Amino acid sequence: MAKLDFCCPNGHEQLDMMVRYGERPPCQDCGATMEILWASSFPNVIPDTFGTPLVVEHFGDQPETFTSRSEHRRRTKELGLRVRDEHCSAPGTDKNRNVSRWV
Ligand SMILES: [Zn+2]
Repeated sequence: MAKLDFCCPNGHEQLDMMVRYGERPPCQDCGATMEILWASSFPNVIPDTFGTPLVVEHFGDQPETFTSRSEHRRRTKELGLRVRDEHCSAPGTDKNRNVSRWV
């Protein structure tokens, strides 16, 4: 078994899924076969704590300081945001139907 992140050709992401090695589960949103999203970090390779605290100035009126990735990720999720967007293209193209513009 492995804990992996997946992305379907239609841009839906399923994070932290437990799957058998080699298994590619169907997307829970559209049913398409999903691919492994290798952009995610590998657990236990990068430490959870920051060497230097992370100061985020765009979460609200006041800057917020985080000492760990999990704390930052929790707050990001709490605000309905995503830590980072990955481009997941449809097969045979570099386009994603959910992305109209990269700024
Ligand atoms: Zn999908």
